[in-house]
Amino acid sequence: MGDQRRCSKSFEDSIREKIMTTIFEKIIKGELPANIHYEDEEVICIDDKYPQAPIHLLVITKKPIPSIHEMSEADYYLLGNVFKVIKMLADQMNFEDSYRIITNHGSGAGQTVPHLHFHVLSGRQLGAKGG
Ligand code: 5GP
Repeated sequence: MGDQRRCSKSFEDSIREKIMTTIFEKIIKGELPANIHYEDEEVICIDDKYPQAPIHLLVITKKPIPSIHEMSEADYYLLGNVFKVIKMLADQMNFEDSYRIITNHGSGAGQTVPHLHFHVLSGRQLGAKGG
């Protein structure tokens, strides 16, 4: 009985894991292809598959935090690395003159992948109000 419960619980866990695994987790694990610009233990930076500007990077935390609003106190140090990586890539990729950083929280704000990430847009004139 005890063993059966353990088996069925781990089966449920594996189903839940499959359902909740995001595209970004698959990219981080190397299960889906992406054009990777940078990677360390905490973040990965890839090209957005559907770019909204000539340069459209996604800087993704490796820890699967659903969005900025679900960050805990213990996670805030990650933001320092995210912004450090963005600055470094802007310098390396020569778009340090102008760029925009966006993170969406919730479907009402346009979030489609529930895994914390930062859009970095550059290479065209960006409208002052988000366009
Ligand atoms: P969100 O809408 O959640 O703020 O941003 C998710 C982003 O992921 C979107 O800009 C979308 O274009 C991008 N995206 C969706 N699927 C893939 C994919 O398979 N690979 C990459 N590189 N980007 C993706």
